[in-house]
Amino acid sequence: MKNTLKFKVLVITILIGSTMALEAQKTFETDTIKSSSGNLEITFVGHASLVFKFQDKYFYIDPVMQMADYSAFPKADAILVTHDHGDHLDPVAIEKLTKPETQIFLSQLCFDNLKKGQICTNGSFFFACGVPVETTAAYNIYGLRGNGMPFHAKNEGNGYVLTFGSLKVYVAGDTELIPEMKKLKDIDIAFLPIGLPYTMQPSMAVEIAKMLKVKILYPYHFNNSNPNEVFKSLTGSPIDVRIRSMK
Ligand code: ZN
Ligand code: ZN
Repeated sequence: MKNTLKFKVLVITILIGSTMALEAQKTFETDTIKSSSGNLEITFVGHASLVFKFQDKYFYIDPVMQMADYSAFPKADAILVTHDHGDHLDPVAIEKLTKPETQIFLSQLCFDNLKKGQICTNGSFFFACGVPVETTAAYNIYGLRGNGMPFHAKNEGNGYVLTFGSLKVYVAGDTELIPEMKKLKDIDIAFLPIGLPYTMQPSMAVEIAKMLKVKILYPYHFNNSNPNEVFKSLTGSPIDVRIRSMK
């Protein structure tokens, strides 16, 4: 009798575990891309929020609760935040994902808000759980507020280039085409924001993808822009444009 009860409890525990996992998979699209050191799994949470899984480690980019309930997600090994706007920095999401060993990388303004993490400035280099990361600039030239100030000022926000084995992944952050991008080399996968008026026109994302000769382009941070414009412009080119749920 005792043994049967134990068995039943065990079965119930296993079922609950797999249902949660299934639900997470059902809700969010995932792409798996081969690198020289194992697969990179990309989960598209929405807008600017991404998850990279590589060598059993979870790297979260700009997790925000408005895109998902992060309490249902695996804890983060590393969290990278591009800048302090509400669609990118959310202290609640970060708290839900944090375990004692979680490494957090962010801009100065994000640090001022969150009061923890490692500050990264444009052009800096660091390792996030063994993955090499380069911090890039992200700002507006044309996108200005009514008072003439850019939506994103120079040196306030970051983009990140993460190297997962042989794959170089560029997450641009909120930016337009800026001179600093010309220095980027060998980008395999690029995430470029096309939401107006805060970031860039779809045609500018096309220009950057061609300039960097990326292999895979994910337009993201759509707002009301149409990612199919990017897809159409690059049809017949060697660039693989992938549209995922990143409005
Ligand atoms: Zn922003
Ligand atoms: Zn944004």
